[in-house]
Amino acid sequence: MINIAIDGPAGAGKSTIAKAVAKRLGIIYLDTGAMYRSVAYYVLKHGVSVSDEKGVQGILGGLVMDIRYEDGAQQIYVCGENVTPYLREPHMSKAASDVSALPAVRYKMVELQREFAASHDVVLDGRDIGTFVLPEANCKFYMTASPEERAERRHKELVEKGGACTLQEVLDDINKRDYNDSHRAVAPLRQADDAVYIDTTDMTPEEVTELVVRTVSEKRK
Ligand code: C5P
Repeated sequence: MINIAIDGPAGAGKSTIAKAVAKRLGIIYLDTGAMYRSVAYYVLKHGVSVSDEKGVQGILGGLVMDIRYEDGAQQIYVCGENVTPYLREPHMSKAASDVSALPAVRYKMVELQREFAASHDVVLDGRDIGTFVLPEANCKFYMTASPEERAERRHKELVEKGGACTLQEVLDDINKRDYNDSHRAVAPLRQADDAVYIDTTDMTPEEVTELVVRTVSEKRK
């Protein structure tokens, strides 16, 4: 079984690289950020605040999450509804970051991620894959870039999708999420001791993909 863990802060290029690596190796890509975004969607839909721990715990038992691949793309169904189209809306990023700090939410998602990785060859991207979800993963990477570069990438992506936010707003959001994600009590964002560190600030996606694929094939020899 191949399990490749790619962790790092928002906007480091993890999902672009994870998708490209999965395609090159003919394996599946699991976007674990989308799972936390789906929990945020479910919680908000129930009119509960994403930081109301008791409220979230009260409805978590009813959350049924089903991850499917349609035409090669990951789709997340929550209680039968495909929530994928709503997950990248700007307010969902901060909501996902807040809800993901709740231990009950993390344990539920981590269990699903471990089950998934045990039965598929998969590239997972997230914040805690190499440190907490799959500490035994055979190939781990920690990907980052300067906050300014990450904000510029996210801003470009949002503008291309028709969004109307400023670069400063995106940078503020990234800084807040970096802080949240690396200071929470359970499974905070940090580099695993055995992860390969990649600073993507001055690298093209093709260069990063090549480096990851090469490292994976060397590790598997
Ligand atoms: O990667 P993405 O930006 O979609 O993730 C949204 C949020 O979900 C992150 O800011 C982080 O708080 C949370 N997350 C997490 N653990 C993961 C993946 C994402 O806590 N494995």
